[in-house]
Amino acid sequence: MSIHTELGIRPLINASATLTRLGGSVMPPEVLAAMQDAAQYHIELDEMQRKVGARLAQLTHNEAAYVATGAAAGITLAAAALMAGKNPAFIQQLPDTTGIPKTEFIVHKSHRNGYDHAIRAAGGKVVEIGASLHTHEWELTHAINEHTAGVFWFQGAMTGIGDLPLAKVIEIAKAHGVPVIVDAAAQLPPVENLWKFTQMGATMAIFSGGKDLRGPQASGLCVGSAELISAMAMNGSPNHSVGRAMKVGKEEMAGLLAAVKRYLALDHEARLLECERTVAKWNSALCQLPGVCAERSWPNEAGQPLPRTRVVFDPPYDRDAIVAKLMAGEPAIAVASGRSNDIYLNPMSLEPGDAEVVLNRLIDIVNSR
Ligand SMILES: *Cc1c(COP(=O)(O)O)cnc(C)c1O
Repeated sequence: MSIHTELGIRPLINASATLTRLGGSVMPPEVLAAMQDAAQYHIELDEMQRKVGARLAQLTHNEAAYVATGAAAGITLAAAALMAGKNPAFIQQLPDTTGIPKTEFIVHKSHRNGYDHAIRAAGGKVVEIGASLHTHEWELTHAINEHTAGVFWFQGAMTGIGDLPLAKVIEIAKAHGVPVIVDAAAQLPPVENLWKFTQMGATMAIFSGGKDLRGPQASGLCVGSAELISAMAMNGSPNHSVGRAMKVGKEEMAGLLAAVKRYLALDHEARLLECERTVAKWNSALCQLPGVCAERSWPNEAGQPLPRTRVVFDPPYDRDAIVAKLMAGEPAIAVASGRSNDIYLNPMSLEPGDAEVVLNRLIDIVNSR
């Protein structure tokens, strides 16, 4: 923690979610060891990317895999590869799409979110289908034309309301020869998602390496079609291309591989039980406080199958003041705000001992009103 002392940065307890702005997740010793190991040697980066990719593909039951510098970078590279393919002139000119035949990406209106910027960063044009609350099959069919480069599917809080089922999207897109890319950045757990989307027929699924995988914060895992991945490699660093500015280092490659190995070997059931125990403890203690009600909330904000505690405060408790006091304390505690006078406590990113600190601080704040 010396860097924090030196710079005066306050480390915090993350009871919110694996948010990038809070540092994503923290790396376990085996991931740190792999990064430290890789950092000591010169290698040919292309060879390392190929061999790490082959190992990741085997581990995740996919045809091929590629390490990007985050899930968002994976989206940009996939979009670039679907437009430019392996054509050196097209690779060179992106994000200028003049003369490139396929540049349109279909996205459900209900899936529009900040990360579709990553498609546009490559020069891709987002073509919306549907309305915020419903989409018809004909709207997808109608949107597909000779300029369509792919369909992007965003899996998360935005999924399920107003969209077609993913299986239907894959069926329609496949029938027209259009690739489907799933942004599954925060869709771990469950661990099976590492192969579920591609086994459903998606061309590629993209995961953040710095969320629950607990790999390097600047890493992303792309799994799926070998053809698409070899085009992504050509559109990626170290080649001079759209992806050059999203360089992934040898350390991230080694760290992500170690993180995936660890994740596959984890006892996910025990982890779930531990989260359930924490939430149950929080709930019973917080419900004893006057004017406070706590309940189990499921699934969590990213749709992951893990519980959270929802704490509802009766007036005159001021939710925002409570959130601010949690952040102002020592150590700082980050929580998520709900839609009303409520907060969510998420156990998934806690380190041993954190759950008690969070509970005791919240009790103190409520009692000191
Ligand atoms: C977190 C997230 C991303 C970005 O992942 P990074 O690894 O931080 O680049 C993209 N899409 C969704 C839906 C996410 O939740």
